[in-house]
Amino acid sequence: MLDKKLKAVAMATKGFMPEVEGDALFVEACSACDELPRLPIVEVGTYCGRSTVWLGAAAERCKTVLFTVDHHSGSEENQKGWEWFDESLVDANTQKLNTLPTLLKTLQRAELGDAVVPIVAESRIASQQLSFEVAFCFIDGGHGELPTQLDFAGWTPKVAIGGRLAIHDVFSDARDGGQAPHDFIYRPALDSGEFVEISAVGSLRVLRRIKRNAI
Ligand code: SAH
Ligand code: MG
Repeated sequence: MLDKKLKAVAMATKGFMPEVEGDALFVEACSACDELPRLPIVEVGTYCGRSTVWLGAAAERCKTVLFTVDHHSGSEENQKGWEWFDESLVDANTQKLNTLPTLLKTLQRAELGDAVVPIVAESRIASQQLSFEVAFCFIDGGHGELPTQLDFAGWTPKVAIGGRLAIHDVFSDARDGGQAPHDFIYRPALDSGEFVEISAVGSLRVLRRIKRNAI
């Protein structure tokens, strides 16, 4: 389990990761990194670093690192006039959303600086430039059709055989939430035959890579 101090930091951080799902994320990431020593973790969609605390703690415990990717200007639903807009995250000079300063404060509070490597970039660019395999990949970035398709194409190939792919906000019923993570990440991963589902908590789904199809 995540230690008490880090749990308190996670729970005090703005974001969208429920406690039970964060705890599941931590357990799954630790298991993946124990099974695949030295391979890193990647997170797509840092926001203010709430889920990052659980994943960073897993990386620290397993002596690896977490790369966490976000352009820090927010998703569509985080912008003014949308459901998940937070005025306090708007930069006073640019009047634009900027979650990077809050992330840096979260990492300071959590004292996870050595285990967490923030990457401030468009997800597609980062996925094209980073060529390593990962033990654990958590996708929680843009939730529209195009961003989820790009995240599937860019990040899921990096999951090593035996490694795990975690996807957030997976809803099989449209009445529960947007369907893009389900339709464009979760389903195609399973349908490829390369992944099998190993756990589900809330809207979090964790899959394991069992093979790599020939291209
Ligand atoms: N994991 C976080 C929540 C992430 S919210 C938590 O647990 O609280 C989704 C994040 O994805 C936002 O911060 C947004 O800026 C980022 N994002 C959306 N589309 C992106 C893209 N194309 N490239 C990089 N980051 C993106
Ligand atoms: Mg989410």
